[in-house]
Amino acid sequence: MFSNKEAFKQLFQENLVSKLGKPMKEAHKGDIYTVLSSMIREYAGENWADTNQYFQSNQEKQVYYFSMEFLIGRLLGNNLLNLGALELVREGLKELGWDLEEIEEEESDAGLGNGGLGRLAACFLDSLASQRYAGHGCGIRYRYGLFEQKIVEGNQVELPDYWLRNGNEWEVRRPDKKVEVRFWGNVEIREEEKELVFETHNYETVTAIPYDVPVIGYGGEHVNTLRIWSAESTMDYTQISGTNNYYKFLDYNRSVESISEFLYPDDSQYEGKLLRLKQQYFLCSAGLQSILRTFEKLELNIDHLPEKVAIHINDTHPTLVIPELMRILIDVVGLGWAQAWDITSRTVSYTNHTTLSEALEKWPISMVKELLPRIYMIIEEINKQFCGMLMKKYPGQPEIVAQMSIIDGQQLKMANLAIVGSYSVNGVAALHTDILKKREMKPFYNLYPHRFNNKTNGITHRRWMMHANPMLAELISETISTGWMNDPQEMTGILKYSEDRGFQDRIHTIKQHNKLKLTSYIHEKQGIVVDPYSIFDIQVKRLHGYKRQLMNVLHIMYLYTQLKQTPSMDIIPRTFIFGAKAAPSYSLAKRIIKLINVVADQVNRDREVNQKLQVIFLENYSVSIAEKIIPAADVSEQISTASKEASGTGNMKFMMNGALTLGTMDGANVEMHEMIGDDNMFLFGLRSEQVLDYYQHGGYAVKDVYDNDARVSEVMDQLVTSGYFCINEHEFGDIFDSIMSTNDEYFVLKDFASYIETHKKIDISYRNSKEWQRKSIVNIAHSGKFTSDYTIRKYASEIWGIRN
Ligand SMILES: *Cc1c(COP(=O)(O)O)cnc(C)c1O
Repeated sequence: MFSNKEAFKQLFQENLVSKLGKPMKEAHKGDIYTVLSSMIREYAGENWADTNQYFQSNQEKQVYYFSMEFLIGRLLGNNLLNLGALELVREGLKELGWDLEEIEEEESDAGLGNGGLGRLAACFLDSLASQRYAGHGCGIRYRYGLFEQKIVEGNQVELPDYWLRNGNEWEVRRPDKKVEVRFWGNVEIREEEKELVFETHNYETVTAIPYDVPVIGYGGEHVNTLRIWSAESTMDYTQISGTNNYYKFLDYNRSVESISEFLYPDDSQYEGKLLRLKQQYFLCSAGLQSILRTFEKLELNIDHLPEKVAIHINDTHPTLVIPELMRILIDVVGLGWAQAWDITSRTVSYTNHTTLSEALEKWPISMVKELLPRIYMIIEEINKQFCGMLMKKYPGQPEIVAQMSIIDGQQLKMANLAIVGSYSVNGVAALHTDILKKREMKPFYNLYPHRFNNKTNGITHRRWMMHANPMLAELISETISTGWMNDPQEMTGILKYSEDRGFQDRIHTIKQHNKLKLTSYIHEKQGIVVDPYSIFDIQVKRLHGYKRQLMNVLHIMYLYTQLKQTPSMDIIPRTFIFGAKAAPSYSLAKRIIKLINVVADQVNRDREVNQKLQVIFLENYSVSIAEKIIPAADVSEQISTASKEASGTGNMKFMMNGALTLGTMDGANVEMHEMIGDDNMFLFGLRSEQVLDYYQHGGYAVKDVYDNDARVSEVMDQLVTSGYFCINEHEFGDIFDSIMSTNDEYFVLKDFASYIETHKKIDISYRNSKEWQRKSIVNIAHSGKFTSDYTIRKYASEIWGIRN
């Protein structure tokens, strides 16, 4: 991007003066970050405009990925990487006296998401742009992202994440592209020339202002757009006079702006707030209006919409695009119902992310009716026609109709609406899609078998390997040349070096380097010195019952007890590292965080064991912290209850960075196993069919396991009695009960013995360094299959019908 280093240095210094009015010697790190990122954004501007121009003049089909979450993280490093300017800028800054890595730390994470679902959206944007697809993101510009987590006396404390404090250099505010979104009001139905006309009155208007963020593809030439919407009030100052009105005006402003104020910190529990519904409709209506504006410029008949536009919804959160598109086509464009429905249901496609019943979105009808009266009428009509069709198809089987109906008593089932209104429904891993077809969505699969398909999730190797683990990327390039960067499946080329001692040593050295780096980060952040030569055994992900962080900490308690009983026990030193945020309202999850911290404190202070066992809970798990942790992992804990984790993407990041997986046959772990076999990962526990069978028969007998396995009862009892741990009588009684009196919903105790045994296998396996490195290489080699580039190519050809 800059012709050479000297030119960059020159331009950078000029920009520093023109943008901040400072000479270099007065600048601080934050200034360097601000100036550098704004230069890059401006530089990308030209290709951004060209890309858009190209799309328009070629009438290219465009995909719009609607998501309530985009967990982007930082952009500086990745943008420099994709522009091919990383080394030049690093060197140039160094000569000016700055360290690029430190400058990168100045950027706040754009944490506009909770976890996997939001991070997937961000990886997809990178892969769309890097493979030159016309694909854009559509989201909300939350003023506060996912909360910042502090651990105070072992407890999670949530602080607001004001990521925009120092502005956002990557975005461009586009007030010229604003649209209006309407809420409330009442619908008047009139007849005009024998046609029914629907008009909403007394509505409240909110202005949606888009902020555009360039999504710079690898190579830097192709630049797509992430458009995030902000809510602003429309009332202007001339409409107010007098003191009372002034305060009313401020109140009104605040209520409008609250729509894009914050991200709901819940990723799998049903969130019943009116504000959340407002957010969803706000995204759908604003996004659609802007898409249709772009489409209008093509001057094509509206019939051509599905040929030129694909709208994808990331889970059911943006399902209201379906009735909203119907509303616009009928009430604004003037189409009849049948034609509007044909267009809509050939434009929208949907991804399901979970089968957890508490995460299936349902909205109270009374709320939808009041907030979105016209939208509700449309949903009612969609449902009436759908159920009418079902009654003809399944005569005398009202239970099928009831099960599939979009309206269920006083509730709206969003997944049902999403399936009925879209032409494609996909799950996110083979096992998950299978469960959807055979169980969760079976009647829909019977009705529309061709709609259902699988698209296994993926991650971008540019962020998760090239940027996060540059030494590993460099080694691969040296070994098999750089083709893998554009086609990551070429990484299988390193397989033939898996037995090569020299290559193994270099893999080992890189891992050790990354572990040392993480060690200093942990020391700096929490003042704990961890043994960089111990096995780094890592579980980082949202805290949830089904992800079973509890099983991990119970195993640590078990190991600790063993070591106290036999201090000379021969084990390879192990450092267990956790990172996890709990939804603020999920009290059991927060208690598990507390338990991990209590155990960590005691283990780390105990001189008798802390040479062999250490436990770290890293605060505020986020994308930028993930980038530091994952390259340093030896063992990746992917231990969800089989059938519960739809795919997982953390598992893929670890695999790509050479960690070995300790996991259940769940989500994408199943496909990892298919690629690399039993020999290169550590599988344990019940299989999904067994778990699902138990569920169908009311669970398993937890009491039996507790009574018959001393390892289980011993460790469980330590939650409620003062044994080896300084845990007060009954202190963790709530956690104890959560297992014993819910019949162990997540099979923690059922899988515990198998988990212990598999941990022992890891200990043995790690002793053979040559074998361990070989396994690690096999994992890296096959990780190309789990890149989002591969996933996006499948979406593009099999769902969206777009070419690159
Ligand atoms: C990848 C990622 C996740 C998803 O992790 P899973 O292990 O698949 O649940 C969550 N949060 C962050 C910050 C991530 O980078």
